[in-house]
Order: sequence, then structure tokens, then C-alpha cells
Amino acid sequence: MDFGLSERHLRVRETARRVAQEVVAPRAAEVDRTGAYPEDYFEAFRDSALLGLAFPEELGGSGEGTLGLAIAIEEVAKYCSSAGLMLLTTRLATAAISMAGTEEQRRRYVRGVAEGRLRGAFALTEPGAGSDAAAISTTAARDGDSYVLNGTKLWAGQATVADFVMVVAKTDPGAGARGVSVFLVDLPNSGFEIVRELPKMGVTGVPVVEIRLRDCRVPASALVGEENRGFRLVMRHLNVVRPLVASRGVGLAAGATQYALAYARQRRTFGRPLIEHQAIEFKLAEMAMDVEAARLLTYRAAWLVDQGHGDRDVAHFLSMAKAYASEVAVRASERALQILGGYGYLKDYATERYYRDAKQLTIVEGTSEVHRMIIGRALGDGLLDWGYDVEAAGGLPGEQ
Ligand SMILES: Cc1cc2nc3c(=O)[nH]c(=O)nc-3n(C[C@H](O)[C@H](O)[C@H](O)COP(=O)(O)OP(=O)(O)OC[C@H]3O[C@@H](n4cnc5c(N)ncnc54)[C@H](O)[C@@H]3O)c2cc1C
Repeated sequence: MDFGLSERHLRVRETARRVAQEVVAPRAAEVDRTGAYPEDYFEAFRDSALLGLAFPEELGGSGEGTLGLAIAIEEVAKYCSSAGLMLLTTRLATAAISMAGTEEQRRRYVRGVAEGRLRGAFALTEPGAGSDAAAISTTAARDGDSYVLNGTKLWAGQATVADFVMVVAKTDPGAGARGVSVFLVDLPNSGFEIVRELPKMGVTGVPVVEIRLRDCRVPASALVGEENRGFRLVMRHLNVVRPLVASRGVGLAAGATQYALAYARQRRTFGRPLIEHQAIEFKLAEMAMDVEAARLLTYRAAWLVDQGHGDRDVAHFLSMAKAYASEVAVRASERALQILGGYGYLKDYATERYYRDAKQLTIVEGTSEVHRMIIGRALGDGLLDWGYDVEAAGGLPGEQ
């Protein structure tokens, strides 16, 4: 067992750390305040080859895998959650294409995203269906060489600047999860309308929107994978992205912890630095334990995905990383704010922003409740086996 990063991944971290400190950190407060999509981040990510980290070299990437991208996301998310989300969308818009797309789709969309020529968005959630993804009501009807999409999508982060949107729709509306398909909608498209940007609490640099699909026609070649087989594809797609959401949580929690630590070493109350008061010292120690544990779960989850896993066999490990790291981010940001006292509550300092940004993480990409359902089901199905022998422990009550 080796807990160290490879030379290549250390280099990824160094590059991402430099971009985070030189480009992202100085602009993070302004991006939060204005809510304007930070094109300068995007250009820096493209110029430093961070957009292609997760993709193979033959598709314009650098082959650093999910782990490489997770490491980079952690670095930029230490300063700005929107920056982490921007890097994450390289996979949120493409993972299903990598898994089930045609050669042409891979060459066009995956290479385009890897090289920073295209930006994508992912549209699954609707006003009436989020966690229960099989309940979506957007339809896609075959019409000759086309599909015609109708419905409303909510959220779809980054859609305002996207060149294409991956839309999940029903091709057999009566068949539940067995009637779901995935489509790539190139923009602009006269049947695709962004109705409005949704005003949100944090992560303001990456807009989320309401989309209306009204007779939105796409060629039959826009279908990803097989018709009516999209539900499992979408679940695998989301699984692949989970370690990356987790790394946003690790980054935010690490940033909030280090910010609060620096303050606790400098601020004096009752004749000594805050950190020498045990209540504060223990709070920081708990934050540090949380960050380290979340990072280990996250790296393992990313490593599992890079080993080709992404299905039910490991879904609970991916869920653990996502749920735990996002909750660690919420806890750390709250504690950091508390350690700064009144200053923590001011918009002048980073802790107020960390606090607002963190909450999103427990909702997106499967809520904390949904991940507990996945982990709970795996426990019930015996997928988590720690080699415990109940008989050796004396059997269960009521057994003969
Ligand atoms: C900032 C932001 C960005 C987003 N970006 C995207 C995006 O790019 N693309 C996209 O498609 N979606 C996106 N989403 C949507 C997000 O994925 C959904 O909000 C999420 O899946 C939850 O769905 P919902 O909001 O419909 O809540 P619901 O599914 O209605 O759930 C409401 C509450 O009930 C709980 N709940 C639901 N079912 C159960 C159950 N069986 N047992 C216990 N509790 C349950 C949930 O955990 C939640 O707390 C984004 C959301 C946010 C906030």
C-alpha cells in the first residue's frame, strides 16, 4: 500500500496550486459578488491543460484520470467553489460520452472539452423530479432521422456559456427507468431556450438555469448509447463524477480550515492566541481530522473509478466519499466562521462565502439522504464485508 501521490500527480497538484494562487484566489471574492462567469479562470485552466486532465491523450487530454482531476479540483476549490465546479463540468458534461458514445461523439465532444474548445452542461433535474430521476417528464420522440425533445429542465450549471447540453429524456414515457435516453443538444438550437438564471445562495460564478425544450429537434446521431437504456448510463455517469464533487468538498474544507487556523494563531483574546484556548484548538483539530478522512475517501473513490469501476459494486464507496466530503465542507465552513467571530460573518472575509458555498455540496449529485440510501442498501445486500464472523462472536440473540 502506498499513500503517496505519483510524480505525475504531484506535478498536477503543483500546476493547479499555482493557478489557484495566482489566478483564482485574487478573484474569488469578486466572482462571488458579481456572479459573472469567470472567463479568466477558464482561460487559465485551458492554458495550463487542467481541462484535459481526466481524458486520455488520444482525445486531447493528459491521461491523469479522475484522481488527477480530483487533485486539481481540490486545489482551486480551496479558494473558490465556482472554480472547482468549472473543472468538474469537464466530466459532468462528458462522462456518459466516454462510456457509451460513438467514436464521432468522443472525437467531437470529449476532445473539444479536453482542449478547451467546447463547454458542456448536464440537464437531468426537472421542476418535478430530482432525486427520483426516473420520474422525469421531458420526452424525446423519434421523427424520421431526428428526435424531438419537449419539457423543462432546472439547474444545468454552466448552460449559459455551453456549446452543448447533455439532456436526459424519456423515449418511452410509460416505461419508467426503462424508457430513458441521453441526448447531446448542440447550441444554439431554436427549440432550446434558457428561460431564466436561477438566483442562488452560493457558487455564484457558475450560473444555473431553467431550460425550456419546445420541439427541440436533434439528429438521431445525438443519442448517446442505446435508446431506452439511458437510465443505467446516467447512474454510472453520476457515479464517475462523484469523487470530483467530493474533491470540491475537500478543497473547500481545507481552505476554510487553513484560513481559520491562520486567524487563530494571530488573534489574541484573554492574553493569548486563540489557538491556545482549548475550545478553539479542539475545533481546529476536528476540522483537520475531517479534511484528512474526507481526502482519503475521495482519493480511493477516484482511484476506483480509474480502475474501471463505476457500477453497483463500488457505488457505496463513491457515495461515502461524496456525502462525507460535502458534509465535512459544511461543518468546516461553519466552524471557520465561528472561529473568526464577528469578522466571520462579514462579507469582507472568505469565511462567509465558504459557508454559503459549502451547502450546495450536500444537495448536488445526489443529496446526502440519497447517498445514505445507496450505502444502506449496500449494507443490506452484504456488499460491505469487513470479514466479521457473527458465529465466532457467539451468534445472534434468538438463534438456536
Ligand atoms: C447549485 C445547484 C446546481 C445544480 N446543478 C445541476 C446540474 O448541473 N444538472 C442537473 O441535472 N441538476 C443539477 N442540480 C440539481 C440537483 O441535482 C438536485 O437538486 C438534487 O438531485 C435533488 O433533487 P431535488 O432538488 O428535486 O430534491 P428532491 O428529490 O425533491 O428531494 C427533496 C428532499 O427530500 C429528500 N429525499 C428525496 N427522496 C428521499 C427519500 N426516498 N428518502 C429520504 N429523503 C429523500 C432529498 O434528499 C432532499 O433533501 C443542481 C442543484 C443545485 C442546488
